[in-house]
Parts: sequence; C-alpha cells; structure tokens
Amino acid sequence: MTTQPSLSSFQVSENVSHMKASSTLAAMQAAEAMRAAGVDVVDLGPGEPDFDTPQNIKDAASEAMRAGKTKYTPAAGTRELQQAIIGFYHREFHANYERSEVAATSGGKQAIFNAVVSLINPNDEVLIPKPYWVSFPEIVAFASGKSIFIETEENDFVLTADMVRRAITPRTKLIILNSPGNPSGRVIPPAEFLQIMEIVAERDLYAISDECYLRFVYPPATVFSAASLRPELRRHLCIAGSFSKTYAMTGWRVGYSLANSEWTRAMLKVQSHSTSNVTSISQAAAAEAFNGPQDSVAMMLAEYTRRREWLLQALNEIPGLRCPQPEGAFYAFPEVRGCLKGKLKTSGDFVNELLENEKTVVTDGAGFGAEGFMRISYATSLDRLEEGVKRIRRVAERA
Ligand code: GLU
Repeated sequence: MTTQPSLSSFQVSENVSHMKASSTLAAMQAAEAMRAAGVDVVDLGPGEPDFDTPQNIKDAASEAMRAGKTKYTPAAGTRELQQAIIGFYHREFHANYERSEVAATSGGKQAIFNAVVSLINPNDEVLIPKPYWVSFPEIVAFASGKSIFIETEENDFVLTADMVRRAITPRTKLIILNSPGNPSGRVIPPAEFLQIMEIVAERDLYAISDECYLRFVYPPATVFSAASLRPELRRHLCIAGSFSKTYAMTGWRVGYSLANSEWTRAMLKVQSHSTSNVTSISQAAAAEAFNGPQDSVAMMLAEYTRRREWLLQALNEIPGLRCPQPEGAFYAFPEVRGCLKGKLKTSGDFVNELLENEKTVVTDGAGFGAEGFMRISYATSLDRLEEGVKRIRRVAERA
C-alpha cells in the first residue's frame, strides 16, 4: 500500500502567507455551501448581477465557436475586441485610444493586478481610499508596495482632492480610485476627480481608475469616465474596466486596461507569463457587448433603481441602522454600530449572527477597511431582498 507524503512541512511563500483570502469570494462560497446543503439561504453577498447575459452576447460566443475562433489570440486581445473597446470610449467619452494602449484582461481584477505589479517597486506607497475593494491592498502587498489608507468616513465616504493632497509623501507612487465605489456606492464628482488627477500629474504620480461600475449611476450623479480627461492627465492613468457587471458577464472573465503604451507593454509582459490571453470565445462575446444594442444595460439600471429605492427605505426603518443613498453600483453600505449590543461587538459579529442564525449572507465592512459597516448587494431579486431585510431586522432587534 502506498502512503500519501505528508504536506505538514509545506512552506507557503512569504508573499502569499501574508495574503488574506478574498472576503467577497468567501461570502459567495459560504452561500454556495449552504445552498448545497439544502438551506433556504438569502444571499446578499456577491457583487454579481442576477440577470442572465444578454442573448446577442451569447449568440456572438456561439458563432465564434462555430467559426473556429478557439485558438490563442494575442495577449492584448483580438483586434476585434480592441477596436470594440476603442470605439466604445470614442463614442461615449470622445476619447481617442490607440491599439497599443488597450489590453484585454481576465476580468477587471487582472487589469488592476497587471497595472500594480508593473509599476510598483518595494516600499513604494500606494494611496487607497477607504472603504476599498478587498483586492486592492492584497495586490499592492503582493507587489511589495505599501498601502497608505485614506480615511473618508468624515465625508460620507466621498474622496476629495484635499484628502489626496494630505496623504502624498515623497514615496507615493500610485493612487487607486474606484468610482462608483465598491462597497460604498459613492461617486466622486467629476470636478473633484479632475482635481485629483491634476494633483497626480503635477506630482508625477500614477492613478488606476477602477471603472467596473461605470454605467450603474443614479441621477443626479452622472456617468463619468477618466477617459474623458485631457491627454496629459491620461498619461498618468490606467483605466481598469470590466464587462462583468455592465453586461452580466461575471463568469466570462473579460476586462481591459487602457493606459499609455509603455505601461501597457509592461502589463502585457506580466500577462504573457501568466494567463496569456482572455478566452477567445469570451473576447468575441465582449466585442458584441460593446458593439451591439445597449438596451439591456438600461433595463438592469432601471431594476437596480427600483430595488435601491425600496431597500434604502426598508433598511433605514430598522432601529440602529443608518444607510446613506448609494449614488452608483449596486450595494447598500449601512452602518451597524447602532445595533451592536450584548454579544454583538463588531460588524463581523453582526454578519456572523446573520449567517449562523438567519441563514443570510452579507459582507462584513471590516474586509473593506470599514469596521462597523456591512455590504448588502441588491443585485438580487426584490423578493429575496424583502426576505433578507426581515432577517436583518430580527438580528437588529434581538441585539
Ligand atoms: N467584485 C465583486 C464583489 O465585490 C465580485 C467578487 C470579487 O471579485 O471580489 O463582490
């Protein structure tokens, strides 16, 4: 009989041993495990649209398979997808990008990873406004950079140019911006965004603008892309974009970066030694997403708007919860400190109580650098939101 070698002596690398697992993915897995066990789980965890991918996009993928587009593509993506991305930014934001400035990536996450890893040297400081998407500081740490967090709670989680100015030191190299923001749903007003980018350019720094919620903005806030900024500001900028949310394509894994050609070349070196190209079939689907009809986006936004209105009112009626209106994306980010009593001392305790005793998944604000808050995704049906709110209320009232 052969015996398995023991893995007890396996030494995880320094880089990875300090890395926290993604709390957003962990929340998704917790919900999946409960569903598999037959539990009636209310899953308000994932930032994942509950809509199906639009049919024209699926048809483009089927057609690509039929046409034999099943081979390697250039790491930067097919010409067709690059042109679709360039065309979209030209149409929507009057921005002129060259193919040498565009790269298709395996989701927006890989665009951010490529951008950070190809720019940051050990101990370079990277400014990250709080609350932040969970992967930002982990990617910075992986690149041996140092995350410097900017507190924004005093301004209801909206970053200002003054906050950025105060946080810059001689070691600052990069700032990661995310508007509309995950998890806060906050939008940086375009005039403020411009001022931030003027500071970035003046100090010869760089910015990543994570625009994965670009199209999901609620009036009076307006859709804004950093692509519409002046070319001399754009030299300091990498846009990380995604098809996942806008076209309900999370599983297809397609995103992109838009950055100056030197930065893009460096990012493509990283990508060519890791994932090479995005799945060829997904690229054909993504090209159709940008080139084809856009009515599905308007339909999704209308539905998120309806849910947001209902949810905000319902959450603010729960004693102890305080939830400002999200201006974009599809998350409510209520403060739960007013509900913390007895054995519930932190937002993590509140979230665990919801999970264990009410079979309801939300994401603890602590993972986003905002202990005392929790993220509720309303990319889920109104029925499930209603049931979830009932369960949240029960925990708040029991506390
Ligand atoms: N961005 C989504 C979220 O925040 C998907 C999960 C992830 O990649 O973190 O829930």
